Amino acid sequence: MADLNIKNSYPIMGISIEKLKPKRVRKNIELTLWERLYIFEIIRGMHITSMHFFINLIGFVVPPKGKKRRIITVYYPEEKLTLPIAYRGRPVLVARENGSEKCVACGLCEKICPASAISIIAEERENGERYPSSYTLDMSRCVYCGYCEEVCPKEAIVMSAEYEGLARRNRNNLRFSKEKLLRSEKSVKDRIEYIRGIYAKCNY
Ligand code: SF4
Ligand code: SF4
Repeated sequence: MADLNIKNSYPIMGISIEKLKPKRVRKNIELTLWERLYIFEIIRGMHITSMHFFINLIGFVVPPKGKKRRIITVYYPEEKLTLPIAYRGRPVLVARENGSEKCVACGLCEKICPASAISIIAEERENGERYPSSYTLDMSRCVYCGYCEEVCPKEAIVMSAEYEGLARRNRNNLRFSKEKLLRSEKSVKDRIEYIRGIYAKCNY
């Protein structure tokens, strides 16, 4: 696997990305007698949970002004996180500079999608180039697995950092047409570079 060029500076309330990294899961470990008694571990867990609760509560009741906050609660929607590049938000189609889609309607994403969320109608231009005359993504079905992004030979669909506007009362409003899915290549440039690293993609 190619070396990842992942930015390591996504500060969340002053906490470095290093500290936010999940800890490695220890498998097949022998529990000590202390741990096998459970009760002490339960008390320890409750102590940690209570500490987080009270620290957040104090920070919420007495919001520090102009001071560096020690709590990591984000006051959404006034505040928004800078998401790590590995975050998988809703899939979007990548547009060329002239605004046309990079997608060649090969159908691979439609085929691989485990939720059958993608529907494509392919057509040919006069110069023989294939393109999707219709590309519909049903976000009420999408499970954000990223398979469509991984399988696409043209880097024409990527998982964006967009996560808003995906809670609707009417499921029909979650069916995104090609026009609603298109994003400029520039706006998803970082994600494209990232997936080139993780999927060892080259520029086809
Ligand atoms: S992210 Fe997964 S579920 Fe969503 S459209 Fe892509 S392949 Fe389908
Ligand atoms: S895999 Fe890529 S090029 Fe093929 S239909 Fe899907 S988005 Fe278009």
